[in-house]
This record gives sequence, structure tokens and C-alpha cells, in this order.
Amino acid sequence: MKIAIIGGGIIGLCSAYYLRKSGYDVTIIEKKTIGDACSLGNAGYISPSHMIPLAAPGMVTAGLKWMLNSESPFYIKPKIDFKLFSWMWKFFKASNRQRMLAAVPILKDMAVKSHSLYHEICRDEKIDFELTDTGLLMVYNSESGRHHELEAMEIANKNGVKAIEVNLNEYEPDMQINALGGIYYPGDSIIEPKQFTDKLTELLRELGVEIIENSGVENFNIKNGRIESVFVEGLELEADLFLVAAGSWSEQLLNKASIDLPLQAGKGYSFTIENPKLKPKKPMILVEGRVAVTPFQNKLRFAGTMEINGLNEEISQNRINGIKKTIQNYYPEYDLTEIEKVDKWYGFRPCTPDGMPYIGKINTLENLYVNYGHAMLGITLAPISGKLIEQIISKKELDLDDRLIDPNRYL
Ligand SMILES: Cc1cc2nc3c(=O)[nH]c(=O)nc-3n(C[C@H](O)[C@H](O)[C@H](O)COP(=O)(O)OP(=O)(O)OC[C@H]3O[C@@H](n4cnc5c(N)ncnc54)[C@H](O)[C@@H]3O)c2cc1C
Repeated sequence: MKIAIIGGGIIGLCSAYYLRKSGYDVTIIEKKTIGDACSLGNAGYISPSHMIPLAAPGMVTAGLKWMLNSESPFYIKPKIDFKLFSWMWKFFKASNRQRMLAAVPILKDMAVKSHSLYHEICRDEKIDFELTDTGLLMVYNSESGRHHELEAMEIANKNGVKAIEVNLNEYEPDMQINALGGIYYPGDSIIEPKQFTDKLTELLRELGVEIIENSGVENFNIKNGRIESVFVEGLELEADLFLVAAGSWSEQLLNKASIDLPLQAGKGYSFTIENPKLKPKKPMILVEGRVAVTPFQNKLRFAGTMEINGLNEEISQNRINGIKKTIQNYYPEYDLTEIEKVDKWYGFRPCTPDGMPYIGKINTLENLYVNYGHAMLGITLAPISGKLIEQIISKKELDLDDRLIDPNRYL
């Protein structure tokens, strides 16, 4: 059976891996270059610690407060846009304790399984990429930040993910950190995402996956409830089954097949400093500013902010200033001129209103499947999402309860 995967980010690649391993004839169609969109310059965390979805109690109030400040960590640009209002309304409805508590065990299960699948891929395929079991520090500098993190720690411990309150000096003795304290999650890891997508692409080619780059899918040829082919830059490409894994662009693309699944692009930025003068030993999130700090082997990356403002390619100086202020607040010794000198990267996180990805078959068409909407967790959840879509397509028993990730919940 021939499967065409639309989108060559980490989710499309991991889907291709499990589908090919299961014997399918797989083609990836990528509009630009494989692995070079949101999957490129992110923080690289594999985070079972992040089991609380974006839509959670308190986010609506925080979001409303932050909406007034374009340097804040989560910013929705006010504008008249029906799709944005509809997404915000669904986000508001999903941001309650009951929905959050239903989502937590699913996200946790997916993240823990994904974490071991990264190690399995590394071991079984003998591909070499930076994958380090570092743990993760959540570092706060306010009483409200501490309160929030203690609650998250309790939820984690109740769900079997170890988290402990720590003395930061024991973990980062060589750095001056302006903070009240931190929570440590020993089960988290980091990968260098570009190394992973490059090595996986090489492996997929060896396994016989066809990869077509610089070719965007423009439309679908649908007959009798079935996609016969897709139009790619004027050419027609046939397959038995189509899988949309086009990240933040999936919504626009699916609209062409008359499918309207709510999605907003959450833009974030990062800066990467090669051979930095100062580097923490552990990855850490600077909680109040939501800035992620990743110490890779030879470089340091700062990543942060979530700006809901469409697929807008402009670089916002206000958002960059917000990240810099956070770094300066927490690391008073840090020389910010290091950041001025490097290129600013941005990526669009594909955000669903309830913070759960869309993984599964679209009921209205016979041969259309989707795998996108992973928001801040696409790196964490990529291998399990690839494995799950293979199990769904092959009609196998699933590794977990898929009700909350079923795309038809919004159709
Ligand atoms: C600042 C920042 C930090 C982050 N940190 C983390 C982290 O630490 N841990 C974590 O788990 N997640 C993190 N994320 C989120 C993670 O990066 C994303 O969830 C993930 O990369 C999404 O992968 P994807 O494959 O769905 O999308 P993408 O990587 O965006 O790939 C989608 C691909 O589809 C292609 N495409 C689009 N339209 C078409 C078309 N019509 N035809 C063909 N191809 C098409 C695009 O060109 C693109 O290559 C972060 C994100 C940001 C922005």
C-alpha cells in the first residue's frame, strides 16, 4: 500500500519511520527542506514533566493579562478574525480542571513512551545524535511561580513522574542564578533536534522511503469520499492513503478538502550561541518568563515566547526583548551581547484549542489521516505519535487510549 505523507517535520519523519518499518511504501512530500521548519531551532526537550496541556485553569486569566503586554511570554495579538475568536472560545472552554486532569495521564503516557522510543531508535538503528538524559530544572523567582510549580510537582508525582524541590546551588554551583528555588525532574532529556531529523532522514532514505523536497501540496483530487491524488506544483501524485503532517500549515491545507479543524500558529523564537562563555549544567525553564535554556554539547540555546498572530514571518523586537529581560533577571552575570551577535530563529508551534494533538483518521474521507497539533510538545511526542498513527492505519491495538487525540472531536 502506498502512503503519501504531507510535511517533512519531525512528526512526518517519525510517522514515515514506523510506517516503513511496518512494510508500507512511503513517500514524504515537503514544501521546503526536510526538518527546517518548527522542528529545527526548538529547545530540544523530551519532557514527561510537561504533562499539563496548554489549555489549563489559570491560562485564560494569565492570557488576558499578557494580551496587554507584547513582551509577555504568551501573547495573542488582538485583531478581528473569526477563526481566532472561535479558537479562543474553544481554548476557554477546554481550560478547566476536569479536562486538564483527563488530559494529564494521556500526555504523560505518551511522553514517557516517546522517551523510551528515542532510546530504542538510537539503539536499534545505531544512529548517532545528541540525546542526553539530563533531567530538567523548573526555576522560579516569585512566590506565585513557586506555588504554581509546587502544584505541577504534585500532579507529576501523583502520575508517577518523579519531581523534587531542590536547592539550586547543589545543581548549578558555578552560576549565579537570581531565583527563589527550583523543581527538578530527573526523567527529562534533551536531543539536538536538527541532528535527529538529519540522521532519521538519512535512515529513511536507506530504508527506501522516497523524499520529495521543495514541492508543496496545493490541492486534493477527491472522488466519491476518497482522495485519489494530490496536486504538487502542477503535478498529480497518487497514493492509496494520505497523511497530513504539515504542522502549523495543516489547517489551511485541509480547508481545501473542506475540513475545518481549529488550529493557531504559536510563534516562538530561539538564539543559539556556539561555545558560550557561560553554560548551565542542566537544561532549565525560567518559569516567570517561560524561557527554556538548553546546554547542548558545544552550544547554548535560549528559546521562548508564544505569540498567536497567524503565520506571520515578521521578527518582533518586543518579543525578543521579553526573552532578553528574562535572561538578565535570572542570570545577572550573563553577557547579553552574545545574543545580539547571533541569528534569531523562529518557528510556528501548531496549537490546538485543547492542547492535545490531532492523531487519527478523518471520518468524512475514506483514506485521509492526520498527525499534527503538538504545540510545545512536538519533539517530546514525535516517536509515539509516529508509532500511534502506524497502529491506527494498520488497525492494530493501540498503545494508549486515543479518545482525547481523535481529530474528529472538533469536526
Ligand atoms: C521556540 C520553540 C521551542 C520549542 N521547544 C520544544 C521542546 O523543547 N520540546 C518539544 O517537545 N517541543 C518544542 N517545541 C515544539 C516543536 O518544535 C513542534 O511541536 C514540532 O517541531 C512540530 O513538528 P511538526 O513536524 O508538526 O511541524 P514542522 O516542523 O513545522 O513541520 C511541518 C512541515 O510541513 C511542511 N509543509 C507545510 N505545508 C506543506 C504542504 N502544503 N505540502 C508539503 N509540505 C508542507 C513545512 O514546510 C514543514 O517542513 C518548540 C517550538 C518552538 C517554536
